[in-house]
Amino acid sequence: MILAANFKTNHTRKSTKEYIERLNNFLNSKNPDTDIFIFPPFTALDNYKSKATIGVQNAYPAEKGSFTGEIGLEQLNEFNIKTIIIGHSERRHILGENQEFIAKKFQFFKENNFTIFYCIGETIEVRESSKELIFSYLDMQLEGIDLDYENLIIAYEPVWAIGTGKSAKYEDIKEVLEFLRSKTKAPLLYGGSVKPSNIKEIISISNCDGALIGTASWNVDSFCEMVDLSTKN
Ligand code: PEP
Repeated sequence: MILAANFKTNHTRKSTKEYIERLNNFLNSKNPDTDIFIFPPFTALDNYKSKATIGVQNAYPAEKGSFTGEIGLEQLNEFNIKTIIIGHSERRHILGENQEFIAKKFQFFKENNFTIFYCIGETIEVRESSKELIFSYLDMQLEGIDLDYENLIIAYEPVWAIGTGKSAKYEDIKEVLEFLRSKTKAPLLYGGSVKPSNIKEIISISNCDGALIGTASWNVDSFCEMVDLSTKN
């Protein structure tokens, strides 16, 4: 089972340190069989000692250079970061990243052996159209992505379910994960308003290997509760 916390533009350096300390206490006492990933903002990156893996929410596909406002491999290497989220809907729809750029980013971080959390998900307009359109939309978001990459994790995150408190329906998640499973052996996550009250049902869906969690992960107690709920130990 994989559980990942995406802080987005939340938490400071100080509060991230406190979060990781409290998470470490929890992980050391419970020793859950869940793989934990934390994605803090850039300013909170550091050489943390933790059973959780620290990754980044984004980076530019270059070692270094003139890419104002971005960070590259050189900055990630300073903190031994080898895990990245690529294709998150907020980067696609708010920051305007297109599939060509996303595929280029994927290729770069694949060549550098990163664990890649690759996100895909349909908009509400697509969800309300037809099954055919939903799957062709998701297929477009897989263009240029090596689905056989050994360090790939895919997160299905319907855009309309992210940060809205309204998770996708059990049957709809099941159907999309089945579609993805027919294409790849990579672990498959669901993301979109996962919280303590629904995580058990979501991870019980066949082909669901875990969850990528935004809002409900920002509070460390809530995140630890979800780790507890998802663990077999
Ligand atoms: C996300 O942004 O990846 C996400 C799943 O957010 P939330 O849990 O807030 O819906």
